[in-house]
Amino acid sequence: MEGGERAPAGNATVGFVGVGNMGWPMAACLVRAGFTVNVCDSRREVANNFVQQVGGFAPDSLREMAAASDVIITMLPTSAIVERVVATAEDSILAGMKPGAIVVEMSSGVPSVTQMLATRVAELGGTLIDAPVSGGVPRARTGELAIMVGGEAAAIDRAMPVLQAMGTTVLRTGAVGSGQAMKALNNLVSTGGFLIGIEALLIGSRFGLDPSVMVDVLNAATGMNNSTQRKFKQFVLSRSFAAGFSLDLLAKDVSIALQVGRETGTATPLSALCKELVAGAAAMLGPGADHTEMAKLCEKLAGSELMAAEPAKS
Ligand code: NAD
Repeated sequence: MEGGERAPAGNATVGFVGVGNMGWPMAACLVRAGFTVNVCDSRREVANNFVQQVGGFAPDSLREMAAASDVIITMLPTSAIVERVVATAEDSILAGMKPGAIVVEMSSGVPSVTQMLATRVAELGGTLIDAPVSGGVPRARTGELAIMVGGEAAAIDRAMPVLQAMGTTVLRTGAVGSGQAMKALNNLVSTGGFLIGIEALLIGSRFGLDPSVMVDVLNAATGMNNSTQRKFKQFVLSRSFAAGFSLDLLAKDVSIALQVGRETGTATPLSALCKELVAGAAAMLGPGADHTEMAKLCEKLAGSELMAAEPAKS
């Protein structure tokens, strides 16, 4: 390699912070792809279980993990936690990071916080890019996530082998923070599609339409969206409410979208209504609810419940 050029991270040592619902299967993809993986989690036993069941190593501290890693991934619940882990805690990534390292912030986070952290990382000779994901736990397991990546092109190029071990679609969105802005806006659109679809099913069922037939018609017509295709029959009409993505995390994403709206001076009346409905559902249902349980708030407001009609007896 010439001058300042660095090798792509094809045989890199990867540090991975946060082996939870998403992080565990994503880190497992990296182990399967042949990377040396160092995992850290505040639940120490989970990191140890990962090493036992999947492979890799569990260093004693973030500092030690960072000192050993060329690429360091964060996959954590919120930007406030990422800020502590990367920069402000006594034991942090910045306490051990090597110059030239790439920090890949893959959580669904707040773009302005991530941009601030990118500046801190750059001051110590590293580069931070953001690469949030879509696809949920099933696609994390199979390494088929959609990844939205923002930041310096050269750092993204170097991190690409690592990203491609976890996702089949890696789309560049622009400067650092843009991936997370895009991720929040995607989930805002998805929320709007869900809520309006549930309202339509409630109106239709009170009119006498069978909601299950309505979903079939929407999917064959222009009302089709991800919720009509993959959520309404599977998780709402079936009453299983087990899509595997929590309402709390969705509420966070929609709030981030609204924050980006405020920071850019954009009028967002419809988004604000979505945010209020999501927050209302989260307050009504309590922690741990699946995001598809938002339908229960719509049902309460409408005063009726969505049930698929009994299949006709022949
Ligand atoms: P999770 O709560 O299952 O996992 C988070 C992990 O981080 C846990 O193992 C927790 O112990 C660990 N952690 C928390 N604080 C820590 C700290 N200070 N230091 C080290 N580890 C710490 O969450 P998740 O569902 O895996 O989501 C992670 C991120 O991915 C979130 O930003 C979420 O919005 C996003 N996301 C989730 C999904 C999904 O379907 N679950 C889909 C796309 C994106």
